[in-house]
Amino acid sequence: MTDRPSLASLSTPFARRHIGPSAAEVSTMLDVVGQPSVSALLSAAIPASIRLEEGLDLPAAVSEAEATAALRALAARNRPMTQMIGLGYSDTITPPVIRRNVLESPAWYTAYTPYQPEISQGRLEALLNFQTVVSDLTGLPVAGASLLDEATAAAEAMTLARRAAKKIRSNVFVVDPDVHPQTLAVLRTRAEPLGISLVVSSSLPESEFFGVLVQYPGSSGMLRDPSSLISEAHSRGALVAVAADLLGLCLLRSPGSLGADIAVGSAQRFGVPLGFGGPHAGYMSVSSGLARSLPGRLVGVSRDAAGAPAYRLALQTREQHIRREKATSNICTAQVLLAVMAGAYAVWHGPEGLKQIALRTHRMAAVLAAGLGAAAQTETFFDTVRVSVPGRASEVVATAASAGVNLLQVDDDTVGVSCDETTTVEHLRVVWTAVGLDVTALDVPALDVATADAIPASLVRSDAFLGHPVFSEHRSETAMLRYLRRLSDRDYALDRGMIPLGSCTMKLNATTEMEPVSWPEFANIHPFAPESQTAGYTAMIADLSRWLAEVTGYDEVSLQPNAGSQGEFAGLLAIRAYHRDRGEAHRDVCLIPSSAHGTNAASAVMAGLRVAVVACDADGNVDLADLRAQIDAHRDDLAALMVTYPSTHGVYEQTITEVCALVHDAGGQVYVDGANLNALLGFAKPGKFGADVSHLNLHKTFCIPHGGGGPGIGPVAVRSHLAPYLPNHPLRADAGPATGPGPVSAAPWGSAGILPVPWIYLRLMGAEGLAAATGAAVLAANYVAARLRDSFPVLYAGQGGLVAHECILDLRPLTKSTGVTVDDVAKRLIDYGFHAPTMSFPVAGTLMVEPTESEDLAELDRFCDAMIAIRAEIESVAAGTWPADDNPLVNAPHTAAMVTGEWDHPYDRALGAFPSGRSADKYWPPVRRIDGAFGDRNLVCSCPAPEAFASI
Ligand SMILES: *Cc1c(COP(=O)(O)O)cnc(C)c1O
Repeated sequence: MTDRPSLASLSTPFARRHIGPSAAEVSTMLDVVGQPSVSALLSAAIPASIRLEEGLDLPAAVSEAEATAALRALAARNRPMTQMIGLGYSDTITPPVIRRNVLESPAWYTAYTPYQPEISQGRLEALLNFQTVVSDLTGLPVAGASLLDEATAAAEAMTLARRAAKKIRSNVFVVDPDVHPQTLAVLRTRAEPLGISLVVSSSLPESEFFGVLVQYPGSSGMLRDPSSLISEAHSRGALVAVAADLLGLCLLRSPGSLGADIAVGSAQRFGVPLGFGGPHAGYMSVSSGLARSLPGRLVGVSRDAAGAPAYRLALQTREQHIRREKATSNICTAQVLLAVMAGAYAVWHGPEGLKQIALRTHRMAAVLAAGLGAAAQTETFFDTVRVSVPGRASEVVATAASAGVNLLQVDDDTVGVSCDETTTVEHLRVVWTAVGLDVTALDVPALDVATADAIPASLVRSDAFLGHPVFSEHRSETAMLRYLRRLSDRDYALDRGMIPLGSCTMKLNATTEMEPVSWPEFANIHPFAPESQTAGYTAMIADLSRWLAEVTGYDEVSLQPNAGSQGEFAGLLAIRAYHRDRGEAHRDVCLIPSSAHGTNAASAVMAGLRVAVVACDADGNVDLADLRAQIDAHRDDLAALMVTYPSTHGVYEQTITEVCALVHDAGGQVYVDGANLNALLGFAKPGKFGADVSHLNLHKTFCIPHGGGGPGIGPVAVRSHLAPYLPNHPLRADAGPATGPGPVSAAPWGSAGILPVPWIYLRLMGAEGLAAATGAAVLAANYVAARLRDSFPVLYAGQGGLVAHECILDLRPLTKSTGVTVDDVAKRLIDYGFHAPTMSFPVAGTLMVEPTESEDLAELDRFCDAMIAIRAEIESVAAGTWPADDNPLVNAPHTAAMVTGEWDHPYDRALGAFPSGRSADKYWPPVRRIDGAFGDRNLVCSCPAPEAFASI
């Protein structure tokens, strides 16, 4: 025996890097909370009836180097190819300056959704660039800040048209047969529960219809002029949506100029890697009359307290949170990071650069077709041609693949070939050869000279686009680098400090987790590549599905939904299908507690369910008496209860098992919203304590960064009786059960490209690491609650006065007595160097704090100290030391310009800007408090002219 440490004890588990507080800090925190140990804390907080006895059955934790090596072995089983498959996904070149300084930069990817606009001006400007790109190219005045993908954007267009075509009684939506197959499939999934019937036809039916969707150019590559169809549809009172390719639009007449009301599509080929299907930014733009019904988020221009222009989310900000079952869509998390990348791609290339890329792409396709001669079937096209190869399609596809090029097999006799910005003459030669042409002697330059463009004159674009200076000022890499840095410097993200947002779980997004996202073996895979090329993805997906089933206690998991909201929709569709298959199709009532996240009710409506609200009692728990009454009232038509656990009030409700039993006894299914899984992992499993289905948010609990408001993944997990009803996909049989209701995302596994993040996280943490993280998260929330309780009442607590992983601070009494609002406190926190907690959700007039396990004690204390100091400032307002309309709270945040300019406030400049003492590291907000109402009254949602900023 020696006293030398063992080999095993000489490595540091990653969990110690992921979890902020050290062992010593944990014991300090336990003292404040009044608990002897973390396990005692969790035993006291979590109801015994749901607590796990055994640990999780997961692979043992490994080091960062080992996890990376294991993932590299999986990645090596994917085969990146030259992707000429098309179907809405194209190879693209991510400019390295954008890849490294946006996609791989924590200043961008760790940011939160810009609900606090004063500290989000950089990403808001970047999104405004994206909106301007979409608006200019589609020729429609109002574009949103991204949707989830092209197919769901098309579904949103369908429901927008349904709402807008008010005079039309018919529920028929006409769909162009030449739309992408996954778009048609998602439309079918989304139409059915709403009673919309799809008519797939290239001409308009005799009978009434409310809307039309055409693909421009068609999925086959065919370019048709939709203008007469549009005017005929308009004359019959219907709306027309055009699914358009943004790169094509650089050369083609815009949908707006052709008369379309709505344009949708994907911005993927603007520099966003394929990633086996996502994440990419879907887009939507609309005519001005439809601006107020636009789904998703919209960035607008307003002004700050000094009158300077400032950006903010306009109009329907958090619309579904407010309107719930009356919301126009359930979109919450979207695709911000990818929209930022696409906007930056346009800034980098500018209008001439984009036009050149588009023209080169088109010329490649034109020369390709010319070389094919009579075999080329498509006469007018932008980038895609269909090729006639009677009886030989699979052989042609295989021959091209053996030369490194993927083509689309349309049927036995036809292949499709799509060109893009990466296409070279060599690739054309591969295609020609695979088709059986002898091209050794072919003079390609001569063929080029002899070949005309294939765009009909009537569809050639003549109007300019992207005339705003931002699209021409950043052409050198130095200028671009500085522009991206300037924007991110305006923002507060996790790389600056804590973002204690309740229900959002802003935890560490580790570098090791993020790195594989840009590996070519994950980034450059087409979602419809042959299965033989995607074995690494398949294995990673199988691992992750198994691990997520284990940690949640469910039997099957679908990784297809690309946001929590989409997981909700998929889960509710499964419930609906289950009832139908049992001959109980009449069960269509979904009970939802009043405290629920707004997406819950919006998703229920999308799934064809009627929403009935269940009250909460004075302690914030589901009111059992009301639940019983509602169940009685709906006993015959009860479909489901949708409940969040632990509740959005931050409490482990004691009655959860009873609640589940009551619903089951009445024939209903239990949906547990799993967004708060960070309070359960390793300690309780929803699938074991009575729930039938949950969605998880991998962008909360499992470390995918928020990206400023997306991407995300919202897998849906079910018990075996619901497994036959999980989403599937028409182009990948192994993506879901044949009995499923269809796809809810465009790609078979949604945002597959970011699955490496949760995969690595689970490998690094193992069962013990995950449980330790849960313990640290619950301890941190209780520590914050204990430290702040005397300054701000903690609204709800459970057993033993303990909260779960978040706590609600009640400001309403203070607001009533002093006039200081949650807004004032949120903005004052900026002066103290913090991102505000969640404001007024789930209870108006409160702040919800979720510190997560990743913040160390110093940062937790800095936050608590700031909140306590703010409480003292509120006292000074109450005491009359400062007037109610001129004090550091109502004037917050304080900009550098403000404290160095004229000063006539009743407190010191230094107190304004440096409330916790002078610091060289201070975060300076770029604008003062933003006037929201002004921005909504004067809607501007593309880049304002530079003169607007002349005063600053
Ligand atoms: C975040 C959240 C959702 C919605 O998830 P998205 O990915 O934003 O669509 C749903 N429910 C709860 C409780 C949440 O916190």
